[in-house]
Amino acid sequence: MSNENKPKRNLNYDALRQQLATRINEQRIITGEAERLAYGTDASFYRLIPQIVLRLKDLDEVVFAIQCCREHLIPFTFRAAGTSLSGQAVSDSVLIALTDDWRGHSILDEGEKIRLQPGVIGADANKYLLPYQRKIGPDPASINTCKIGASRLTMRVACAAVRRKTPIKPLSA
Ligand SMILES: Cc1cc2nc3c(=O)[nH]c(=O)nc-3n(C[C@H](O)[C@H](O)[C@H](O)COP(=O)(O)OP(=O)(O)OC[C@H]3O[C@@H](n4cnc5c(N)ncnc54)[C@H](O)[C@@H]3O)c2cc1C
Repeated sequence: MSNENKPKRNLNYDALRQQLATRINEQRIITGEAERLAYGTDASFYRLIPQIVLRLKDLDEVVFAIQCCREHLIPFTFRAAGTSLSGQAVSDSVLIALTDDWRGHSILDEGEKIRLQPGVIGADANKYLLPYQRKIGPDPASINTCKIGASRLTMRVACAAVRRKTPIKPLSA
């Protein structure tokens, strides 16, 4: 086992995995070396290989996973599309990704507002809004891949700049 794959001292990932498996389907608790290796990179030049990758399907699972990590004092990091460029979406501990179940949307007030689950891809949100001649505020070059849950966190500043330029009226945050 290489150094980067060694579990951190004093952190009991086995006990965490067992507790997670009481409520989360084991197929979505990823501990195999090859799969963890694949989750060890994002769009940045950093590499951190997670000890456990979780693919969570609903809010109950997210709350449960966070509670378990807190109980075991084990750090966790979220990953959406993994396009951020400074290593924000890699971890050598627990990496929490979402399944494809988080892509719901609803248009409100005739397109004045849109409600999106965090797994919606930015470009898809704009497709839903196109009939209303509206678009979401963030307009990153990664819009065909990045997801709303993460974009809303990372792009508030960029969003303000775009608002002034776009010919189609963007939605407010
Ligand atoms: C080719 C390219 C072009 C880009 N262009 C731009 C650009 O023009 N403007 C710009 O600002 N950025 C740009 N980026 C950076 C990146 O695409 C954006 O920051 C994007 O918003 C990240 O979205 P993501 O879905 O990939 O999130 P990730 O990279 O997966 O995650 C981003 C952050 O959000 C956290 N996170 C993810 N999901 C959740 C969740 N459900 N709950 C809480 N936290 C969560 C992660 O832990 C991480 O800290 C670009 C990147 C690439 C590769």
